[in-house]
Amino acid sequence: MSTEKIPYKIYLSEDELPKQWYNVRADMQKKPAPLLNPATLNPVTPQELGAVFCDELVKQELDETTPYIDIPEEIQSFYKMYRPSPLVRAYCLEKTLGTPAKIYYKFEGNNTSGSHKLNSAIAQAYYAKKQGLKGVTTETGAGQWGTALSMACSYFDLDCKVYMVKCSYEQKPFRREVMRTYGASVTPSPSMTTEVGRKILAEFPDTNGSLGCAISEAVEAATSTEGYRYVLGSVLSQVLLHQTVIGLETKTAMDKYGIKPDIIIGCAGGGSNLGGLIAPFMGEKLRGVADYNIIAVEPASCPSLTRGVYAYDFCDTGKVCPLQKMYTLGSGFMPSANHAGGLRYHGMSAILSELYDQKLMSAVSVEQTAVFEAAQKFARVEGILPAPESSHAIKVAIDEALKCKETGEEKTILFGLTGTGYFDMYAYQAYNDGKMSDYIPTDEELQKSFASLPKTN
Ligand SMILES: *Cc1c(COP(=O)(O)O)cnc(C)c1O
Repeated sequence: MSTEKIPYKIYLSEDELPKQWYNVRADMQKKPAPLLNPATLNPVTPQELGAVFCDELVKQELDETTPYIDIPEEIQSFYKMYRPSPLVRAYCLEKTLGTPAKIYYKFEGNNTSGSHKLNSAIAQAYYAKKQGLKGVTTETGAGQWGTALSMACSYFDLDCKVYMVKCSYEQKPFRREVMRTYGASVTPSPSMTTEVGRKILAEFPDTNGSLGCAISEAVEAATSTEGYRYVLGSVLSQVLLHQTVIGLETKTAMDKYGIKPDIIIGCAGGGSNLGGLIAPFMGEKLRGVADYNIIAVEPASCPSLTRGVYAYDFCDTGKVCPLQKMYTLGSGFMPSANHAGGLRYHGMSAILSELYDQKLMSAVSVEQTAVFEAAQKFARVEGILPAPESSHAIKVAIDEALKCKETGEEKTILFGLTGTGYFDMYAYQAYNDGKMSDYIPTDEELQKSFASLPKTN
């Protein structure tokens, strides 16, 4: 089919949508390290995890051998409301860059929550409902996850309590109102509603909050309220599993036209969109069927893969969650206050950390002014106003395409465009006003943060 012109958008029919998620751990010879109980330092048991997470999700979290896991009918139906997401050939961007490279992006922003997070939110809400729970608690930073979860919970008639990082709560009132419109209750974190929140406020009364701190509050609220469990929008292996619909759709669409990406690029915060996009391709790489150059892109101001250490660490500031072995900057790490572009989490998915450690993928870090420059260039020719997070991937896709221009190579580049940036206009404003700056943490700062790693390592 190579003579046929590739359409601007490659869609799939409903019949071609994935009916199973793909569990990449099944094809990994060396698996990610087990989660540890922070008190005993033994691997967590399903019973222990069951106090925090829904039973079916605990099973998925701990399952490292089943390659394909059925997507329940109800979730498939919900997916059909906004999936398949388009796989777009960036003809206009290619032309502007004057590159011989062929650029494709998988756009996950075409739903009200504006990002890929809905793919996992709906799965997690479904399993909570099926277990007969009353509701779920969670944290949200920039607000995309809280928005996605509130949509999913309203669909299944579940209560949804969101702890929103305080600075975002104040800077992003519209995100907050979207969540409330879908019926969620939104509390700025740290708050006085939990013990851990009161403790953090007593120590740091002026804190703007952090994701790690909001996680601790949400976990406490779940474990101390009858009929509630905690859900998380990234990092966990179950979340990467749900996000594989991104990669599976992409693979089916590309296979239809005989396209094979040479380079696959994604932004990495906790690793869920990247893990989902690359999963079926990484599976082929692990099975020795095909090879791909896979690149994770992270902010230079929060560089967990490129400058972090691979060690057991706390997932949250309050140190209540299981310990996870991951590339981390230390759970006390706070990105600089001028950091506008999302992707602020101190650690990285255990699956991606292990794949990265095995050198099956690489990582680069980029500075935020360069990211917004790429975002603007992309918006002006491709039309979509990208989320700052997604724009990290755009930046590196453009860099790779420009390298092809120099060498004349006609490489095929695929990147994940995870969402839209309509709620990030303060960040765009700072960029447009020339007031955006870059900040790269010093080695001393990172060393200080590494000192807070637990002594298990
Ligand atoms: C949350 C988010 C990310 C980063 O999260 P990952 O788990 O690393 O995928 C990236 N882009 C958008 C639009 C997001 O909302």
